Amino acid sequence: MMKDKQFETRAIRAQLERTDYNEHSSPLFLTSSFVFDSAEEMRAAFNDESDDYIYSRYINPNTNEFINKVCLLEGAEAGFATASGMAAIYTTFMALLKSGDHVISCSSVFGATHAIFTRYFPKWNMSHSYFHTNHVEEIEQLIKPETRFIYLETPTNPAIELIDLELVAGIAKKYHILLIVDNCFATPYLQQPVKFGADLVIHSATKYMDGQGRVLGGVVVGKKELINEIYLFGRLTGPSMSPFNAWVLSKSLETLALRMDRHCENALFVAQKLEGHHQLENVSYPFLKSHPNYEIAKKQMSAGGGILTVTLKGGYEAAKKFLDNLQMIKISPNLGDARSIVTHPASSTHCKLSEQERLAVGIKPGLIRISVGLENREDILNDLLQALNG
Ligand SMILES: *Cc1c(COP(=O)(O)O)cnc(C)c1O
Repeated sequence: MMKDKQFETRAIRAQLERTDYNEHSSPLFLTSSFVFDSAEEMRAAFNDESDDYIYSRYINPNTNEFINKVCLLEGAEAGFATASGMAAIYTTFMALLKSGDHVISCSSVFGATHAIFTRYFPKWNMSHSYFHTNHVEEIEQLIKPETRFIYLETPTNPAIELIDLELVAGIAKKYHILLIVDNCFATPYLQQPVKFGADLVIHSATKYMDGQGRVLGGVVVGKKELINEIYLFGRLTGPSMSPFNAWVLSKSLETLALRMDRHCENALFVAQKLEGHHQLENVSYPFLKSHPNYEIAKKQMSAGGGILTVTLKGGYEAAKKFLDNLQMIKISPNLGDARSIVTHPASSTHCKLSEQERLAVGIKPGLIRISVGLENREDILNDLLQALNG
């Protein structure tokens, strides 16, 4: 029934069946386990012959509601919800890979994902290769017989570069390997990788899905046969999302479209106003015509998202002064919050990389990432301008 409804309606109406209490809003099911009316019912549930709930590490009505919604929004068949975005990434890797396997990833990935590849993959006898975000043609040369999947983020964090999803999905298909996309920055409201051929889509629900900086969460959705493997691994090893966080996130999704519209409007406004400022070397936002990947952005995203970067001409010293001059906007590693947030990737999230590695993924010493919030856009802009000029 929900399949023929539009995005906003799905995000609001895909909710749990009513209980005997006739509640209007989905209740919170804080229960670790469920009971069976007979020994036969329990046997059937454990043998996958019924959909009865068993134990909340496996699935719970609240996590089920959240997963269902994300599947409807992403156009995916099935999903599994986890305690954080990193738990979704780790669980997916562990469920699908075995010793000896190889993966290809874009060079610009979330810091903790980079750490899994570089610090832990060798320990498990797995390997990775990076292709440069702006050189998708490198991918084919990196494919080996043991390559299991291509992994990417678009827009990338923090450089805000875009990768052509349809193009990479075509390569994955040609070589019979999977395409996995971390869709955290765009959210399903702006971009649905499954439509372009992705096999799995991963989210840190901590970011725009919650949108108010309250709970951690993660989710992976996509092809049913892959999700079955991920679900089984998750059910056995326990990275599952808590029912409380799922309950919060299902409600958060009701306003995702509304919030994203405003995030995008505010971010585009700020990007346009800051572009050309005499203190700035560069302003990067997918829907600015000056963005080198503007055509890809137009093709696969319905708007530019809430994140932009600015690069100060004066390098780290100027960046530091700018951050310290801000009065309203706070320095924090989070993003996708109702409150505008700034970070300095070179000295924080990406400090473990060498200067050379940072430059290779577009992180100059003067680069600042701005997650544009839902405050009045003039107030956001004015705080940024007084900090630049101050
Ligand atoms: C934050 C983030 C993650 C990790 O999510 P957590 O919920 O913090 O574990 C993964 N990928 C991207 C792109 C992110 O921004």
